[in-house]
Amino acid sequence: MTDSFDRLKQDFPILNQVINDEPLVYLDNAATTQKPQTVLDAVETYYHTSNANVHRGVHTLAERATSQYEGSREVIRNFINAAETAEVLLTRGTTTSLNWVARSFGEVVVEAGDEILISYMEHHSNIVPWQQLAKKKQAKLVYVELTEDGQLDLDDFQNKLTDKTKIVSLTHVSNVLGVVNPIQQIADWVHEKNGYLVVDGAQAVPHMPVDVQALQADFYAFSGHKMLGPTGIGVLYGKRALLEQMEPVEFGGEMIDFVEEQDSTWKELPWKFEAGTPNIAGAIGLAVAVQYLERIGMENIAQHERELIEYVMPKLKQIKGLTIFGPEDLRFRTGVISFNIDGVHPHDVATAMDMEGVAVRAGHHCAQPLMTYLNQPATARASFYIYNTKADADKFVEAILATKEFFLNGLN
Ligand code: PLP
Repeated sequence: MTDSFDRLKQDFPILNQVINDEPLVYLDNAATTQKPQTVLDAVETYYHTSNANVHRGVHTLAERATSQYEGSREVIRNFINAAETAEVLLTRGTTTSLNWVARSFGEVVVEAGDEILISYMEHHSNIVPWQQLAKKKQAKLVYVELTEDGQLDLDDFQNKLTDKTKIVSLTHVSNVLGVVNPIQQIADWVHEKNGYLVVDGAQAVPHMPVDVQALQADFYAFSGHKMLGPTGIGVLYGKRALLEQMEPVEFGGEMIDFVEEQDSTWKELPWKFEAGTPNIAGAIGLAVAVQYLERIGMENIAQHERELIEYVMPKLKQIKGLTIFGPEDLRFRTGVISFNIDGVHPHDVATAMDMEGVAVRAGHHCAQPLMTYLNQPATARASFYIYNTKADADKFVEAILATKEFFLNGLN
């Protein structure tokens, strides 16, 4: 399987370059992915041939832009199997999507004394909006513990899920540990308690099949740029009945039906949430990215990443002084590997690996509560995607060994 992925690199012009005299090995895909030529062409062609504002004009370019923009929404709807395009809101990305849920839906359902349940493996985007809501409403933000090997502790989850829990907001896949959470099972538990489930899918949708109806999440958020699409475009899926109860978060042009001197009415879904000129080119680029992923097949992509992880993990385990975070059992994780080298700061690790042409991330990965939980100031992180190969994995291992040698001179 993985061999048939080897040719994908040629679709991504940026990958064909030399960094510090070494061919680039890009392993920072959890931060953002590279864009295939088809996506770059789609964005450029839109500006060359169809650029106009959407929903407003009757001239040919305006109609073309509108039909491409709304056509993109349909491509995305089909990709995540939402029941209707009214449930697919186009946002700036996961952060915006989660803020909209917290600020609009949260306003409607959370009251003083209620609880909002999240976990220690959340990205700041899925922590801070809930902190703000909890403060505003005098609600309590409760954290689910992790197991020893970095999975969500499902016993602790069930203990903390009570009649007081109004909203549960969890990541589908951790951007640090690579852990995949059992969202479908969790949705059942949450709904039995009459709560609502919000899912941060930023690290899931790019890497595995996601069917929002099968998952039964009430809201599901993700970003285009982590799945081959442009930056500044993302999605908030929400169940129609819930979106209808919500007030828009932003007000102005595009989202209104009728404006009088003192009051206004809103358009129907999904447009009532999309105030102002949207990221038209971004939506078009994202739809082309989705089509690129669909041609490969999301099952195949998940399998490819699993094969890469299965290939590289045994090699990493042989390296003395290397700590890998997250579950031992590779069935529970995607292609994200957070690691530390004893005695070398993660930032130095990332800088030294860059000297070998290998791009990895170092820092808290926007997950400071998780770093505290793991008792680490930071970690280095490699994250694999469709265009990475076994040769990249070998180069990754070599770069770790070279980094160790450089800093520790054989001492560790
Ligand atoms: N949630 C997770 C799990 C992420 O990995 C990220 C990005 O790193 C985000 C949320 C935020 O995504 P964005 O910056 O595209 O809004």
